[in-house]
Amino acid sequence: MPTSLQRHNNMAAIHSKDTKPEMVVRRYLWSHGFRYRLNHSRLPGKPDIVLRKYRTCIFVNGCFWHGHNVAITETTADAVIDNSECCKIPKSNRSFWLKKICRNQERDREVQQKLAMMGWHCVTVWECQLSPKQREQTLASLAYTLNGIYLDDHTVSHYIIPDDDGLMVAEDDATDYNK
Ligand SMILES: [Zn+2]
Repeated sequence: MPTSLQRHNNMAAIHSKDTKPEMVVRRYLWSHGFRYRLNHSRLPGKPDIVLRKYRTCIFVNGCFWHGHNVAITETTADAVIDNSECCKIPKSNRSFWLKKICRNQERDREVQQKLAMMGWHCVTVWECQLSPKQREQTLASLAYTLNGIYLDDHTVSHYIIPDDDGLMVAEDDATDYNK
């Protein structure tokens, strides 16, 4: 029988190796200098990760619960829905699952619309994009996206309105040209 201390150490080891998708994203961001807050309760949808400096909310979504790449057009028990690679809707209790996942999809859209209206950017990272094979590329493009957002938000747009003199010169040139 393991002692309670051994049990405690085992639990701690399991905990520190947490490979939950959200932890994968958090560890990457932290180690690349991105600072964030978690589950900001004042923002719609309590986003998983909030980067204030980038005015960005990151949602790390489970493919099944959030219906990744599944378009739910009807929610009846005999509804014909194309499953995606990562979201397969069970045959039994079909109507229940369809309604549940459809509701989640709708809520995700509403939350993102609200955040956008408040001037926040939203990035969704899907669980399947964090598989060992895809992880590296997904995280690299997340960092790329964040840096792009920051640059866009901090770029000063400079417009030049041509003055009257400029327009006159252009007209003069045109008349000269016709001579
Ligand atoms: Zn997926």
